[in-house]
Amino acid sequence: MKTTPVYEQIEKFKSDLDTCTKCGFCMSACPVYQEEKVESSVARGKIMLIRSLLSGELEVTDELAEQLNRCTLCMTCAQNCPAGTHVPSVITAARADKVKRKGVPFPYNFIFRWLLPRRRLFGWVVRFVSWFQGVFMPKTEGTIRHLSFFLAALGKGRHIPQIAPKFLRQSVPEVNKPPAGTPVTCTVGYFTGCMTDFVFPELGKKIIKFLNNNGVEVIVPRGQGCCGAPVFLGTGDFDTGRKMADANVKAFQDLDYVITDCATCASAMKDYVKFLADNEERKQEYTEFEAKIKDITEFLVDVLKLSPSAYKVAPEFKGKTVTFHEPCHLGRYLGVKEQPRQILNSLKDIKYMEMPDADRCCGMAGTFSINYYELSKKIADKKAASIRSTDADVVVTDCPGCQIQLIDTAKRNGMPQQVLHIMELFE
Ligand code: SF4
Ligand code: SF4
Repeated sequence: MKTTPVYEQIEKFKSDLDTCTKCGFCMSACPVYQEEKVESSVARGKIMLIRSLLSGELEVTDELAEQLNRCTLCMTCAQNCPAGTHVPSVITAARADKVKRKGVPFPYNFIFRWLLPRRRLFGWVVRFVSWFQGVFMPKTEGTIRHLSFFLAALGKGRHIPQIAPKFLRQSVPEVNKPPAGTPVTCTVGYFTGCMTDFVFPELGKKIIKFLNNNGVEVIVPRGQGCCGAPVFLGTGDFDTGRKMADANVKAFQDLDYVITDCATCASAMKDYVKFLADNEERKQEYTEFEAKIKDITEFLVDVLKLSPSAYKVAPEFKGKTVTFHEPCHLGRYLGVKEQPRQILNSLKDIKYMEMPDADRCCGMAGTFSINYYELSKKIADKKAASIRSTDADVVVTDCPGCQIQLIDTAKRNGMPQQVLHIMELFE
């Protein structure tokens, strides 16, 4: 007798499968479908595939995983779905069930289970590879190089910034106090994320300085690690993701706020409850942790309620036209849409220009852009057209991952725009 297979994680999101009416509204919204025009790219097609898994008509194969993985988890389909179907959750669950059956493929199993959770060792490996990169790889313009580091697939001729000579956490103390004479109004923990720590430490220093100057004491807990996004969301390795989540919860347990400059890290950490809470104790810990997490612009606008005079534009950006790319994880996942625009619109020293489709996915999506770089580039080129139409001098965003994608996009397209994190605009 044929038994129906059990997919433990998918079953938790079965209501999302059941609500889909096959109306096809998601087709016009999906950035992947817009490039590929095949049914398996779009939310409706992915739902049909997963339904077939549950009914036993299909099995977990590499080909099926490939079809499910061609998704940036941008959440545009969910936002546009009249039935409220949330495909990104189902896809994440399907990835987890695949890992339970087939394991995590090499080299990801080694990187995720052994390197990423061991922050110090991971830092040394990144450092070692950056030396290698400096000796053997050709330099391109400015600080941009063709990088071929140990995540070999991340290279592929892509322009990304070099590994920083000194990481953020090696450059700043654990406790960062406001300058003498500035009263402390609150204390926050700073979740620095891998990109800011290893690639953009100057961004991290600017954020600490900005917060300190506005009376905020900034703690950079040494026990924090990777948020886990590439591990449990990108790959479905929930067991390793849980270990990372536990470490981060512990690192920030005595703090009231967890501030991040990375929308992807923030939303991944807010997803601990949804995907990783496997008992009541974790559920409570993750729920308390989730409530502390704030994107940096959200914190500045909603918590500190800073006046426009607190934002001092750095001299090199005065008089520039600035546009803003809204990361999917910022707008659709965290619901932070107005705060960065409120800051940008308040700046008298720049001209802010909203780009068309500012919230359209840039195609980065972490491991998606590693695995499907050609597809990722096509999605990014639509963003390039939006940026060009503004005639902006500077593009800012609120996610170092998007920033890397936009740097690559601007270079590939011969665009003059400088790409920055929004907090880099300030002194
Ligand atoms: S828009 Fe929603 S209900 Fe319609 S086909 Fe897409 S996922 Fe299904
Ligand atoms: S999450 Fe984005 S890429 Fe994935 S199916 Fe939905 S719209 Fe397409």
